[in-house]
Order: sequence, then structure tokens, then C-alpha cells
Amino acid sequence: MLRRLFFAWKTCFALLSYNNQLMRSMKRTIFTIAFCLMFFLSSNSDAGLRFHFIEVGHGDAILIEEDGEGIALIDAGRAEAGRLVLEYLRDQGIESLDHLFVTHTHDDHIGGVPMILDSINVGIIHHTGMEHDWETAKRFREYLYTGNWLEEVVDVGDIPLQRENLSVEVLSPLKEETEGIAADPNPHSMVLLAKHGSVQVLLTADIYREREDWLIDQYGEKLKCQVMKASHHASRMGNSADFLKTVQPEIVIVTVGPNQWGYPAPETMERLKMCCPIVLRTDMVGTVVLESDGKEIDIVKPEGIEH
Ligand SMILES: [Zn+2]
Repeated sequence: MLRRLFFAWKTCFALLSYNNQLMRSMKRTIFTIAFCLMFFLSSNSDAGLRFHFIEVGHGDAILIEEDGEGIALIDAGRAEAGRLVLEYLRDQGIESLDHLFVTHTHDDHIGGVPMILDSINVGIIHHTGMEHDWETAKRFREYLYTGNWLEEVVDVGDIPLQRENLSVEVLSPLKEETEGIAADPNPHSMVLLAKHGSVQVLLTADIYREREDWLIDQYGEKLKCQVMKASHHASRMGNSADFLKTVQPEIVIVTVGPNQWGYPAPETMERLKMCCPIVLRTDMVGTVVLESDGKEIDIVKPEGIEH
């Protein structure tokens, strides 16, 4: 009897030790999986906030994204670029956009918008309220009131996008100036200031020099930004020396492609290169991707450019 009890105790102890070994091994496995998962998740969240200046030929399409979350799209290029923008968003894992900003009604900004609205969920469309009688502008108006999205006419001082550590403020135009039909929408196009921590990105749409002067008067020092999108595809109408002196951008993005107007203007490019250490043209380098950690902003694409 005693021998049987002793044998049973020894067997149980052996099993228990075996179980402990099993448990330890399982714990190790679980720990390793959890560690890998945490590492993967944390390295992803370290990716930071990204600004994508998508190469769409002539026109603008700028995506603000974080970890595959579509925070905002600013314009969507020409109609024929709509699919390209959509595919780009999907390549980033984006199936919905919280915000869509439509800076003005010219084809090279608004043309691709219907394709985006047809294909992915959009939370709210921010626009200037301008109406025009050309086809893409009329098509946009039809879309504006037919979907599940909200729509909102912006005004100076609005901050339509606000979330942890990121805001997008409307610097121009005044709501009252865009009511009804304006002959040329460019001076009234939407100027946005994105702030991510201490990083500032100025998106100037297609404004001209007169509006740049107004912005200097209105905001002064506040315009100082690490990154600026050159206004009006770096035509000779904007990017004045005074404006560049005020903004002092370290990186300037020129969103441009083949066009009949000869953009960018050589003298404007000259001025940009004189004032700014890094000037990137989307027709030469393709899509530009910048990544901000809230303190600094780095160039992810094209590769190999330090600043
Ligand atoms: Zn344009």
C-alpha cells in the first residue's frame, strides 16, 4: 500500500513537473506571440502621421493618413485621375475618409471627386460654396446633396478637423466672398493650415499673390511652416518673395504635370529654390510622402533626401 502511494505521488509529481514544463513552454510561446504582436502594433503606431502629395498629372490630391486611417483628402485631381487617386487610397488600406476638402471648382482639383464619392465612404465634405457653370463644377453640386455624407461651407477661422495632436484650420476664403458665382475661383480657393504638434503644413490651393499678401497681413508669423504646397502649381501668379519670406518653408511641394499653360513658371521655380532648401516637383519625383512625429517631419518618398 505504502509503495503504491509512494508510486502515485512520484507519478503525480512527475506529471506536475511535466505540466509545469508544459505551462512554462506555453507561457513562453504566449509571451513571444504577445511580444511580437505588441512590437508589430507599436512599430506601426510609430509610423506617424503622413502627408501624401499624390502624383496625379496636373492637379492636386493630398492625403492625410495615419496607420491606414483616411483622415482627410484635399482635392482629387482631374476626372481622369479619379481612379488613380482611388487606387492609391486603397493601396494605403483606406476604405473611408473622415474629411474631404474641395478647395475650389477647377477640374484639376474637383474632377476626381465623384469617383471617390462613388467608391468609398466619406464623413463630411468641406467646400467653399462657390458655384460655376462648367461641367465638373455642376457634377460636384449634384453629388454634394445626394450621398450619406455631411457637407459644410467653410469660413475663415473654422477648424473643421480636430483630433488628438492634429488640427486643420481654414485660413481663407471668407464665407461671404464665395456666395454666388465668382468668375475665377482661384483667389477664393481654400487655404488650409495643418498642425501636428509643432509641425505645420500650409496648403495653398491655387491662390495668387494678392491673396498671399492678404494672408501675410492677416496672420503674419502664424504662417511659418516646415512644409508648403506651392500655390497655383508654381505659376507666375503666386509664391511671391514676401510670402516665402513669411512662410520660410523647409520643404516645398510643387504639384504639377503636363499642362498647356507652361506651369511651373521658370522664374517662380527660381524663387522657390532660392528661398527653400528642398523643392520637390511631383512631375519629376512622383508622389511625395512626408511623415511627421509631431516634432519633425521627414521625407519618406522620394527616398534618400535628408533635411
Ligand atoms: Zn489647380
